[in-house]
Amino acid sequence: MKVGIDLDNTIINYTGVFYHAALEKGFIPVETGESKVAVKEYLCSQGQEDLWTKLQGYVYGARLELASVYKGFFSCLKMFKDNKIDYCIISHKTKKPFKGPRYDLHAQASQWIKSQLVPHIGDIEYTFCETIEEKLATIESKACDYFIDDLVMVLNHTGFPTQVSPLLFNGLIDYDGERFTEWREIEEFFKRKQ
Ligand SMILES: [Mg+2]
Repeated sequence: MKVGIDLDNTIINYTGVFYHAALEKGFIPVETGESKVAVKEYLCSQGQEDLWTKLQGYVYGARLELASVYKGFFSCLKMFKDNKIDYCIISHKTKKPFKGPRYDLHAQASQWIKSQLVPHIGDIEYTFCETIEEKLATIESKACDYFIDDLVMVLNHTGFPTQVSPLLFNGLIDYDGERFTEWREIEEFFKRKQ
């Protein structure tokens, strides 16, 4: 069995990160909510969509070390290892940001994986895809049986491989299929498959 896993907002927890980075840049007032959505909504409500795009480049390109790993992820991966369940990371990530300084987003994410994941779980296979179509093709070519992602747009995409079971990691939105809000639940799900 092989499980493909998205990276951003599935393994990497950005809670508070956009808020702190935006404060640091002077883009938002302190009283803005701390979630990514609250920061985005504030900037867009001010007609500052450009700043939102720049902020994303800054976080993904220069401040990724502020981000943490979702609770329960390591425990779930240990269970995968113990049960010989194979896994890999497949991430839709452009090499450069859409706007602002030309950070190398792939290098930053690789560094984050090496410093935050590898010390706990050992080497992990990962692929960065420039487009959603490339991501879907990679999910297929890596022969994943399951794919975990926080975006319904990926899992419900017409190009999502039919032989792969989609699993949503997102407690905030409605979804007809399997949905999880914590990695602990994903671990339980795969334990039941053993
Ligand atoms: Mg994601």
